[in-house]
Amino acid sequence: MQVYKFGGASVKDAAGVKNLANIIQLEPKRELLIVVSAMGKTTNKLEELTWAFIKGEDHTHQLFEEIKAYHFDIIHNLFEDPKNPVYNEVSNAFVEIEWLLDEEASDGADYLYDQIVSIGELVSTKIIAAYLNLAGIFSIWTDARSYIKTDNNYREANVLWDKTNQEIQKHLPTLLDKGIVITQGFIGGTSENFTSTLGREGSDYSAAIFCSCLNAESMTIWKDVPGVLNADPKWFDETEKIPQLSYHDAIELTYYGATVIHPKTIKPIQNKSIPLYVRSFLDPGSAGTAITNIDAPLPVPSFIFKVNQVLISIFPKDFSFIIEENLSQIFHILHQNKVKVNTMLNSAISFSVSVDFDEAKIKQLIQDLSETFKVKYNQGLELVTIRYYNQDTIARVTTDKDVLLEVKSRHTCQIVMKDKLSFRTK
Ligand code: ASP
Ligand code: MG
Repeated sequence: MQVYKFGGASVKDAAGVKNLANIIQLEPKRELLIVVSAMGKTTNKLEELTWAFIKGEDHTHQLFEEIKAYHFDIIHNLFEDPKNPVYNEVSNAFVEIEWLLDEEASDGADYLYDQIVSIGELVSTKIIAAYLNLAGIFSIWTDARSYIKTDNNYREANVLWDKTNQEIQKHLPTLLDKGIVITQGFIGGTSENFTSTLGREGSDYSAAIFCSCLNAESMTIWKDVPGVLNADPKWFDETEKIPQLSYHDAIELTYYGATVIHPKTIKPIQNKSIPLYVRSFLDPGSAGTAITNIDAPLPVPSFIFKVNQVLISIFPKDFSFIIEENLSQIFHILHQNKVKVNTMLNSAISFSVSVDFDEAKIKQLIQDLSETFKVKYNQGLELVTIRYYNQDTIARVTTDKDVLLEVKSRHTCQIVMKDKLSFRTK
């Protein structure tokens, strides 16, 4: 059997849903599980709705109406018959949000977030399953929350693998025998049957979990790019598609921030040697990228940019050395503040980290660090990671930049930099 994953961009409107149906029709008859995200930018909208609700803002209901209108517009474009059951199914899913909005926002924010935001995936899959059936492609909708079992670390839930494996193997093969199965990415269920989510952009990870538990033949992620590119076209004019990639390089690229695949996706399928294809939903005839066990380096250097970085330099107050004891304390504080280190470097008397700028988090982090250490930081920086770098590639990205930090290993170079002339240290 195979697993297909379609992201929000692929089903952002009625034409996208029709295109998905065409892609499925191209497929020779074999068992297929389709994992789908929320439509277009729905998750961002639902996030906004959640925060507005929690803060008790006036436009809460307005936001909710906009989300509903967007979906019903797509439904009107796909289903001429107003009696198609999809109208009721989607309304019922939205009622779940209505109930929450009618109450006081007294539960934990992360818990509320998951109960509200998950509706995006539930409605997108309802619409797509109904459309496939209308188009004559028999398909069965199923609820991912009964399979992907998680703890209750809401918004970043951890998968309980044994339980998940059991549930998937017990129920899914029978459904797959009957027809194409369609389910949600991103969401899971806790042991108390509350909804959890796996972290933003987590649908790829969901697809990988299903693949692994079902021992799938392959997984395909359908994207709006021709495959894995050596740089994000947002930052680079000339990009190249990488036709073949090893799991190892894919993990490295996603770890450093390549957004083409969610970083947690590769490991589960690598463990089972399941090939992962990244293909274009705009050009389904072309081959895309194959991520497998191949033992070959990337054919071209790859670049990953992260903007909005803060470089934090930490010094012992008494100008003593940075040793294991301070490092362990620093990492403890980073971990406590849920701040992820993008790159780091230590010297005798200082330790520097580059992290994403999240105002509230960084303020708290600096406050906590400052209790024990002397802290300096620079904001508004860029971090570029070059996999398979050489001197030319470094020169290319650092033109007109001031370099604040450079870290090299055998295959990877990371540079924290800023446009010339706009230096500022606090
Ligand atoms: N809909 C979720 C998000 O936008 C999950 C995903 O797209 O993978 O984060
Ligand atoms: Mg998405």
